[in-house]
Amino acid sequence: MKIKVLGAYGGRFGDLGTTCLQLSERILIDAGNIMRSLGEKCLDVDYVLLTHAHLDHIVDIPFMVDYTFRYREQPLEVMGCSDTLSAVKDYIMNWNIWPEFSSIRLINSGDYAVTYTPLDIGKSIVLNDFEIFPFKANHTIPTLGYIVKKEGKGFLFTADTYRNPVIWKKLNEDKEIKVLITEISYPSYMHNLAEISKHYTPKILKEELRSLKRDDIEIYVMHLKPNSISELLKEIPEVLPDVKILKDGDEIII
Ligand SMILES: [Zn+2]
Ligand SMILES: [Zn+2]
Repeated sequence: MKIKVLGAYGGRFGDLGTTCLQLSERILIDAGNIMRSLGEKCLDVDYVLLTHAHLDHIVDIPFMVDYTFRYREQPLEVMGCSDTLSAVKDYIMNWNIWPEFSSIRLINSGDYAVTYTPLDIGKSIVLNDFEIFPFKANHTIPTLGYIVKKEGKGFLFTADTYRNPVIWKKLNEDKEIKVLITEISYPSYMHNLAEISKHYTPKILKEELRSLKRDDIEIYVMHLKPNSISELLKEIPEVLPDVKILKDGDEIII
C-alpha cells in the first residue's frame, strides 16, 4: 500500500497544504489540499473520507466539485460521521456560501454532483481494495480516526487528536497495523492551547506513547501549525527521535 501525503500541515501558509491523504487515484482521506496537488487528476477522485468538519480538512471539497461536475459521470461520494456531513451540507454547500451540489445534477448523467454517505463508528466498510474502520477520535468536534488496510496490512490515522486510549488499544491488539500517522500541532510550552483545542504537543505524544506496547510500528506526525513549524522542527527530533515528520508530497509505503 502506498499513501501519498497531498497535504501535511495544520494551516495554510505559502505553499503549505492542509491535511489530505491519498490512498489511491479514487480515494482520499480529508480534502485539505486537492486542487493544487492533483490538478486535472482530481477528476479521478470518487470518494473523500472526512475525519471532521474543520476548515483545514474540508476546504477543497467545494472547489473540486465546482471544477469536476461538468465532466463527472457519477457523484462524488463524501463520507464521514453524520455531524461532519451535516456541517458541510448545512453551513458550506448550502447556496449561501457555495452551491448546494447535492441537488445539482451532473451534466453528463442524471446523478447528483455530490452524495453524502454517513459512516458509523466501529463499523468497517470496504472501498475498492481497502478495508476502512472508523473509530471515535478525541477532538473538539465529532471526529473519526481511520484504520485502513489492504491485503492484510495497513495504518492507523488518528485525525486531529488529544489523548485517546482507543488509539493505543487498537495498535496493541491489531498486529496488521504497521504504521501510525498522527499529529503534533504546537510546541510543548503551548500545552494549555493544545489541551483546549485538543491537539498533541511533542511531550503529550511522548506521554501517550508509553501506552504503546509494540516496537515495530513506524510513527509519522503531521498537522504542524505553520506559525510553529520552526520550533517544532527543532523540538520533535529532541523529544521524539524515532518519529518522522511528514511534509507535502511525502509517500509512505506499507
Ligand atoms: Zn486540523
Ligand atoms: Zn480539527
